[in-house]
Amino acid sequence: MERRVRVRFAPSPTGPLHIGGVRTALYNYLFARQHGGDMILRIEDTDSTRLVPGAEDYINEALQWLGIGIDEGVREGGKYGPYKQSERRDLYRKYTQQLIDAGRAYYAFDTPEELEAKRAEIKNFQYDARTRGMMRNSLSLPAEEVKALMDSGVKWVVRFRIEPDQDVVVHDLLRGDVTINSSILDDKVLYKSADDLPTYHLANIVDDHLMEVSHVIRGEEWLPSAPLHVLLYQAFGWEDTMPAFVHLPLLLKPDGKGKLSKRDGDRLGFPVFPLDWNDPKSGERSSGYREAGYLPQAVINFLALLGWNPGDDREIFSMDELIKEFSIDHCSRKGAKFDFEKGKWFNHEYLMNMDNNELAQMFKPVLEQHGVNLADYSDEYITEVVALVKSRANFVCDLWDQANFFFERPATYSEKDIRKRWKPETPELMHQLASLLENADTNDAQACEEMVMDWIDKNGLHKGNVMNAFRLTVVGECRGPHMFEITRLLGRDEILARLEAGIENIKLPAENA
Ligand code: GLU
Repeated sequence: MERRVRVRFAPSPTGPLHIGGVRTALYNYLFARQHGGDMILRIEDTDSTRLVPGAEDYINEALQWLGIGIDEGVREGGKYGPYKQSERRDLYRKYTQQLIDAGRAYYAFDTPEELEAKRAEIKNFQYDARTRGMMRNSLSLPAEEVKALMDSGVKWVVRFRIEPDQDVVVHDLLRGDVTINSSILDDKVLYKSADDLPTYHLANIVDDHLMEVSHVIRGEEWLPSAPLHVLLYQAFGWEDTMPAFVHLPLLLKPDGKGKLSKRDGDRLGFPVFPLDWNDPKSGERSSGYREAGYLPQAVINFLALLGWNPGDDREIFSMDELIKEFSIDHCSRKGAKFDFEKGKWFNHEYLMNMDNNELAQMFKPVLEQHGVNLADYSDEYITEVVALVKSRANFVCDLWDQANFFFERPATYSEKDIRKRWKPETPELMHQLASLLENADTNDAQACEEMVMDWIDKNGLHKGNVMNAFRLTVVGECRGPHMFEITRLLGRDEILARLEAGIENIKLPAENA
């Protein structure tokens, strides 16, 4: 029988979710949805020293913003819960005991100082089959002494007893079989009496097994742990339900040299986190894609293609299309360069294709931030403005720079454009243009344009100079969309007022006189 696809995203709430973690979550989600399977969100909070308040909420909020749906988790519930490891202590105790009883794990009493001394004494010391006999543990000490130590309440750990010289094979769907020799592994700590909690390795395996996880899709930084995980599955006798592994390549710095870090983002001015984050301990702020003005669909599309490709040159994919097309076979084994310019490009593409009404709604808060009284403008007006200028914007907030003159008169006029376009005869020409427009139907952009062009032709005027001077009075500089579309939207009265203000306020520069 085909096994039901069940995947998990298993972050540790030790800080904001890095964008690489978001990609891992996304690939898990795509894989689950494609196979009609389940997506689990498991909070791995067993390392109590590294927990950061707010990190778990941050993870939930980020996944929600991005539309990465969770079927089972702390918030969602589910029949395999609890989904937070700190609430599963009894299970880890039970399974640790099972390994001890089967002779696959043992108690160790070595203090940090003793371990340190051994490391100083023996070069490349590793706690394993060769050295465990010289250490203080339940394999080397007499049973009575072990009992006495346990009764005395000293701190102990449980270590995994690794048999040396065995080939351990990790079946990785992306990398093929990865084989290593067990002699290079140390007897990893699985449990610590100090905080009565398991380590990552034990908790991770027990939960993957109990939650019936079929595929473990995670970052390649976990590949070195995978042989140990395979051995743990075997030690428990769970080989038959061992998940298939997929270790995704790293996200690399934009120049491809090394792993992408928060510092790269700070240095080059792009976020490496999905949402803004204020570190409660250091007070340090990190910027996120959401607050930087990215659309979640654009971030998803961008991340999907960092490590996966459709096999052809298509680049724009909705979530539904990704669910259909994603495949592990088309994931890359090489690290993916984080090309944040491409991220901006994706955002631009999504902005361009967005419904103008929707975009207008998103633009409203930006308008308010710039002191625009929304009551003065209809939704239709804002929608038309957005439609006219969006091709020049990468982000919703960029729309303001492109469209500010639709909401306020120019307070100043570009010096450079004045020098280029404002001649001694310009004020008079603008007067004539104003009289012409007084009788024009400005609502009909085309008719209005024809009328003005006719006047320019008949009088043998320089079209560039006239139109640019006109633009200068209305916009404040020589930029913006089609002049007669601007005229139509602003309306005759406003255009005439701006022409008049321009004539009044634009001073002829000395060199043009
Ligand atoms: N808790 C680990 C992390 O923070 C999970 C690794 C895994 O997926 O096995 O990424």
